[in-house]
Amino acid sequence: MSAVPVASPETLEEYAAATAGCTRCRLAEGRTQVVFGAGNPRADLMFVGEAPGFHEDKQGVPFVGQAGKLLERLLAGVGLWRDDVYITNVLMCRPPGNRDPQADEIEACERHLFRKIELIEPKVIATLGNFATKLLSGRPLGITRVHGQEHALTIAGRSVLLYPLYHPAAALYTPAMLKVLEADFARLPEVIGRGAQPAAVAEPEPEHDPEPAVEAPAEQLGLF
Ligand code: URA
Repeated sequence: MSAVPVASPETLEEYAAATAGCTRCRLAEGRTQVVFGAGNPRADLMFVGEAPGFHEDKQGVPFVGQAGKLLERLLAGVGLWRDDVYITNVLMCRPPGNRDPQADEIEACERHLFRKIELIEPKVIATLGNFATKLLSGRPLGITRVHGQEHALTIAGRSVLLYPLYHPAAALYTPAMLKVLEADFARLPEVIGRGAQPAAVAEPEPEHDPEPAVEAPAEQLGLF
């Protein structure tokens, strides 16, 4: 499959246009459209989920299904709206039947995610679930161990606070997990305030390319 030629787009909008026909992985064959991301292109807070589902693929917007409704409710709880933040996913195209992302798909798509981070320059990146957390932390630690623990990192050459959270889709069906997600969300204003401080000592940037993005087989990762 051929890569999409991207002539150094300067803005997020230009980058979205440049990647709308991406064929870097097999998911291009089954998608309705690329789901690039949505929200404030200068947001201090960026959410990174897993991959578009049925509704996202149809509408071209991330988190518009049930998990998205929960995300909106959690945002409202801390006085934020979708337009205050930027929302995207590890993968920009829907995996068939909403199966887990595969390691080569994550590897193919990660350059798009890192370019979005460079262009948006968020202060805090909240990762939703295991796939985003493992990719952006560069560590194999699962979300159950690391949720709610922010840490300073260098991502795409910038100091950011990474704040791992349970995935809303997982919390939808597990009341105990929802309680934890709500408690972690309640700390977001404090974490954003901390992210706005001059950079703490950030960990060096994890290696992403050309190493595989995920070492464990994709089916072992799951949402939690
Ligand atoms: N919708 C998305 O856009 N991403 C997810 O990870 C789940 C649902």
